[in-house]
Amino acid sequence: MSFASELAHAVHNGDRRALAKAITLVESTRAEDREPARTLLSLLLPVAKPGIRLGVTGVPGAGKSTLIDALGMCAVTDGRRVAVLAVDPSSRDSGGSVLGDKTRMTKLAQEDAAFIRPSPTRGVLGGTASRTREVIALCEAAGHDVVFVETVGVGQSEERVASMVDLVLLVLLAGAGDDISSMKRGVLEAADLIAFNKADAERVASVQADAASLRASLGISRAGRMPDVLSVSALDGAGVAELWSALLSRQDEAAQSGELLLRRGSQRGAWFEAALDDALHAVFVEDSELSQAREAALREVESGALSAPEAAERLVASLLARR
Ligand code: GDP
Repeated sequence: MSFASELAHAVHNGDRRALAKAITLVESTRAEDREPARTLLSLLLPVAKPGIRLGVTGVPGAGKSTLIDALGMCAVTDGRRVAVLAVDPSSRDSGGSVLGDKTRMTKLAQEDAAFIRPSPTRGVLGGTASRTREVIALCEAAGHDVVFVETVGVGQSEERVASMVDLVLLVLLAGAGDDISSMKRGVLEAADLIAFNKADAERVASVQADAASLRASLGISRAGRMPDVLSVSALDGAGVAELWSALLSRQDEAAQSGELLLRRGSQRGAWFEAALDDALHAVFVEDSELSQAREAALREVESGALSAPEAAERLVASLLARR
C-alpha cells in the first residue's frame, strides 16, 4: 500500500494521529505533497458523510472557544463525534494569530470522540486557511459528524465560513448595544442563530434585555426566517443545552424544507471555485517554466514596470499558448 492509501485507511478507522497527519498533508503548500494529498482526498472524499457543519463567529473575547467547548460536550453526550477547526483570517498577513495559541476547549480536549485542530501554523506561505473545505471533509471521513468551524468576526472571514457550513452561530456580548446597531448588516443576516454570551453573575438581566431588544429589532427589519436569539453562559452552562437543541432543530428544519440540500449544493460550488483557483495557482508553482515566468512577472509588478492585471493576463496567455 502506498503512503497515501495507508494514511487514508487509518483516517477512516478514526485514528486521530493519522487525521492530524492527513490535515497537515492536505494543507501543505510543498510541491512534493501535492500528489499524495490528491490521492488521499480521492480515497477519502467518497466516504466523507457530512453530519452538521457549524460556523461559529464573533469578536475575540466573545467566548467562542468556551462556547464550542460546552456545545461540543452536548454533542459528545448525544453520542456524536466532534471536530473543531479554526479559520484564522490573520495567519497570512501578520504571521500572528487572532485565535491565539491559548489552551482551547479543555473539556472537549479530553474526549476520545473529539478532535481539535490547533490554530493554523503561523506564517505558512499562502495561508493554511484556504484548504478548510478539504479539512472538513477529512474530519467527516474520520467519522466526525459534528464539525465546528470557528472564525473571528472581521467581515470577510465569516463570509467565507458561511459558504462552507450549514449553520452560522454568531456569538455576541451584551452591553455592546451600540456595536450591534453599527454592525454590518451582513454579519447579522448571515447568522442563523445568535447567542448572547456571558449571561451569568450580575449580567444575567442585562444580557437578557439585550437579547430581547435584538429579537425585536430583527423582527421589524428582517424578511424571511429570523435567527433564533438566545442568551447563554458558556462558563456555567446556563442555556447551552437549549442552544444545542435550537441548532439541531434548525438543521432538521432545513433538512425537511430542502434548504439544506440547496446549501450543500452551493457549498460544493464554492469549493469547486476555490479548488480551481488552487489548482491553477499550483500549475504556476509546480511547472518550472511557468513558475519562472511567474517570478519574473512578480518582480516586474513589484517594481511598477507592469500592472498586476496585465501580468496575470499575460501569464494565462502563456499557459494557453502551450497547449
Ligand atoms: P474567544 O476569543 O471568542 O474564543 O473567547 P474565549 O472563549 O477565549 O473567552 C474569552 C474570555 O471570556 C475567557 O477568559 C473566558 O473564560 C471568558 N468567558 C467565556 N465565556 C464566558 C461566560 O459565559 N461567562 C463569563 N463570565 N466569562 C466567559
